[in-house]
Amino acid sequence: MCGIVGYIGSKNAQDYLLSGLKRLEYRGYDSAGIVTLNGRPSLLRAKGKVAKLSEMIASHKTSDKVGIGHTRWATHGEPSEANAHPHRAGDIYLVHNGIIENYKQLKQELTEHQFDSQTDSEVLAALINSFYNNKTKLEDAVTQALQLVDGTYGIAVVSDREQDKVVVARQGSPLLIGVGDDETLIASDASALIGHTSEAIYLNDGELAVCTADSVELRDLASQPLSAKVEKIEVDMQAIQKQGYDHFLLKEIMEQPQTLANTLKGRVKADQHHAQLGGLNMTDDELREVRHVVIIGCGTALYAGQLAAYYLERLVDDVTIEVQIASEYRYRSFNLPENSVALVVSQSGETADTLACLREIKNRGARVLGVINAVGSTIAREVDGGVYVHAGPEISVASTKAFTSQVAAMTIFGLQLARAKGASLMELDKYIDELEALPGEIKALLEKITPEVEQAANKFTDYNDALYIGRDTLFPVALEGALKLKEISYIHAEGYAMGELKHGPIALVDDSFFEVALIQDNWLFDKSISGVQEVNARGGHILVVTNSTEPIEAEMVIRLDSKLDVLLPMLFNVVLQLFAYYVAVSRGTDVDQPRNLAKSVTVE
Ligand code: GLU
Repeated sequence: MCGIVGYIGSKNAQDYLLSGLKRLEYRGYDSAGIVTLNGRPSLLRAKGKVAKLSEMIASHKTSDKVGIGHTRWATHGEPSEANAHPHRAGDIYLVHNGIIENYKQLKQELTEHQFDSQTDSEVLAALINSFYNNKTKLEDAVTQALQLVDGTYGIAVVSDREQDKVVVARQGSPLLIGVGDDETLIASDASALIGHTSEAIYLNDGELAVCTADSVELRDLASQPLSAKVEKIEVDMQAIQKQGYDHFLLKEIMEQPQTLANTLKGRVKADQHHAQLGGLNMTDDELREVRHVVIIGCGTALYAGQLAAYYLERLVDDVTIEVQIASEYRYRSFNLPENSVALVVSQSGETADTLACLREIKNRGARVLGVINAVGSTIAREVDGGVYVHAGPEISVASTKAFTSQVAAMTIFGLQLARAKGASLMELDKYIDELEALPGEIKALLEKITPEVEQAANKFTDYNDALYIGRDTLFPVALEGALKLKEISYIHAEGYAMGELKHGPIALVDDSFFEVALIQDNWLFDKSISGVQEVNARGGHILVVTNSTEPIEAEMVIRLDSKLDVLLPMLFNVVLQLFAYYVAVSRGTDVDQPRNLAKSVTVE
């Protein structure tokens, strides 16, 4: 959450700050601001999207060569110009991502500062300023202040008095320092750096860096020097552009055949009965010992875990599989039996709650594996091993392609576990074959079904409530489908296990609701049809998605035609992604940047 940029070098600072903020806007978009320095500081802040700030910059052009910028996702204080970053205290300006938990207590002590905003971030600016006198260097004042802070931060700080440096630091919120030719660029996400440099230093928690145009000096909060490791950034420009699509969301749905193929590449080979992940850092003997797997995530990653759990428990029969919500699990007094492995699932690799679980579990001595999309992210760096899903940058705030790749990656993990435990090829080949066929099946589905899903979306667009129902592996798909609809169309939607209908939610069914019933042609078909009939009998409006050719009584039926069986729920999910997208488009919402949300949830 929140985008941070910074620049110091030989070029125009505003140019990089603005282009970087545009690329990071998906991380927060309720207000934005920049400050650049050269003689007089030029502070520009605007409520609303980066486009507003851009208009402001157009009429306040500077040729300054140093500055910092921010796009905000408010935690303390409403979105407003006064609460927008950078925050000023004396000569210093600060941008901040995260939460200063002890801000109230600190604020009471900072009586000399006149507070203009309601943010916790301004308290940090004032705190730094309280240590900043004529004899102190900026980096030393920042260090002293950070020693008093509880909470999380990624910060960039500049001073009117020392215009030859940008000081950055992190604790819990991501920060990268791009190393360019006669320039140093700061970003909270690699996408801002693409096209400027392909080399970056990833800051770790507890580290601070003093950046000049041609140097980066790294140290810890005890002011001990550290050596910086420069790493290659591997994101290409195409991946962060819309490429002709109206929205990133649609682009990301449509590119799933390719992104999933990238997840499977080198890992699944049906002709060799092969399914293996390279980076687990576990021997077959260690895998054989595993008796308990806990999968942890938030939002879409959680539902990906719930679907994968069905597959894992079918693939291995001597392992208990559980799925946990990260924000709950981190505070529970959970017990991990011996031989437990945790799978932490996060697209961004920065999700604060998931990261906290990872640390809790490691403290208790269990092994943690990551299922991560963003290369080099914090979770990816702290796990014992794991898998990059290689779905490429996901710019739309609502997650789509990451789900598909996460489920596939966890299924491969299940196959590897089963193989280590002596499962026969016959048992596993069905999954391996279907995994290999999946990208082609998604491609064929998207080519064929999109117009029909758009038609369905137009039919149901005026409702304000929806119930998504499914059994077995289609239950997590119902949860994810409902989440997608509420995220981007703002229709109130809930996912339910179809068997739960009678235990409460059927009371809601009337003419004002619509139901999305997911029905697979398998051993649960007749039971699922009963669920549909119960809703029909009470006047509900039903959209059925099924691969069955049987006649089904419903307002509309979308039929899938696929050879898949066990992995068919992944195709149902693609249909629901498209459905949510077209409903949102017809309701005119901001599809890629829905209200109140932001990508990469780095705060609790
Ligand atoms: N807590 C800060 C604020 O509310 C930073 C929020 C963010 O990370 O965007 O301004």
